[in-house]
Amino acid sequence: MMKTVAISACLLGEKCRYDATDNKNEALLTKLQGHTLIPFCPEDAAFGSPRPTMDLVRTEKGIRAISNDDGLDLSVPVLEYATHFFNTHTQIDVCIGKDRSPSCGVCSARLYDEKKNLLSSTETGLMIKEAKKRNIDCIDAEKFEGFSCDI
Ligand code: SF4
Repeated sequence: MMKTVAISACLLGEKCRYDATDNKNEALLTKLQGHTLIPFCPEDAAFGSPRPTMDLVRTEKGIRAISNDDGLDLSVPVLEYATHFFNTHTQIDVCIGKDRSPSCGVCSARLYDEKKNLLSSTETGLMIKEAKKRNIDCIDAEKFEGFSCDI
């Protein structure tokens, strides 16, 4: 049955990574043929491409996306994009996020403390947190690709 899949745009070949390249994944695209794909990229929408990188950092205000350039908290525009995206697209069956991204990682984003010590490699990115809040099934792209079953 055809499903509606929200997916990190860089996996589809959009050059929206921090260095204005993509993460195009042909095997993933083949597997998704026949389904409706709705791309998202909160970081490109908020900051453009190229842009400085950011990391998830545990702060006294909770887990925030912090710029590796100037240390500013970049969480708000990412969260606003996520809220708007999922408010606009209400019929999503599955969400596939780019593994390890601080925005799009599902169970694979890195979390640091404020001294840049690694606390976890199984964190959820800010965009995907919003999807999970809405009870949308989410999966990292690298895990989805390895699944033998269809969606
Ligand atoms: S991982 Fe997410 S935020 Fe990063 S380039 Fe891909 S879609 Fe954009």
